[in-house]
Amino acid sequence: MADFDLEGIGMTSRRTRERLVDRIAAQGIYDSAVLDRMRAVPRHIFVDEALAQRSYEDTALPIGHGQTISQPFIVALMTQLIREGGGRSVLEVGMGCGYQSAVLSGLFEKVWSVELLAPLAARAQERLQALGIKNVRYKVGDGYQGWSVHAPFDCIIVTAAPASIPDALVEQLAIGGRMVIPVGGSGQQELLLIKKDRDGITQTVEEIVRFVPLVKGA
Ligand code: SAH
Repeated sequence: MADFDLEGIGMTSRRTRERLVDRIAAQGIYDSAVLDRMRAVPRHIFVDEALAQRSYEDTALPIGHGQTISQPFIVALMTQLIREGGGRSVLEVGMGCGYQSAVLSGLFEKVWSVELLAPLAARAQERLQALGIKNVRYKVGDGYQGWSVHAPFDCIIVTAAPASIPDALVEQLAIGGRMVIPVGGSGQQELLLIKKDRDGITQTVEEIVRFVPLVKGA
């Protein structure tokens, strides 16, 4: 796996990151590929410098524009859930700062990401480039519509919460594919795992979570 220790990223961040990933493992994440990937990706470069010293706490942090970088445990859980079905391609809805995209990029051949806010996506892409990550493509647009030209996707991961599961995303999920999505109002939501087969979809509630809303009418 690529070593992302760029100039200016010292041993301190590596050790604190390892401690964070150990804690996540202790909380029940058992997919070693996910844990290894989170050991490799420097989360601190995805937040503003002023917050960098908090980047290895297991907590969501602000990334500007009223948005957040997701809590590391939730990133790990969502990634583990979609990976259990196998698959090479993943659609991410809500690129944000690009951290989740970076985690996915080491575990899937192709990552497609849709982000509503152009400045966030542009900044995210810069960070991915700085890390030498080349298999993430993004577009600025409305995630409710998915990204039909690249469908079907083996996996879909939605990192902002709609009130109900968007139809377009179910349509763009491959048969045998898996989607993980927080669904509910602005307080807390249910993190749903959706599995699609020839007869339709089944869903299970995996966790209670708190995400920013998936903004409508973009
Ligand atoms: N995966 C991100 C989490 C970002 S927070 C990370 O690791 O940082 C959720 C993101 O969803 C925000 O960037 C927000 O702008 C975006 N978003 C909200 N509504 C959206 C929509 N309708 N379509 C696409 N992105 C949306």
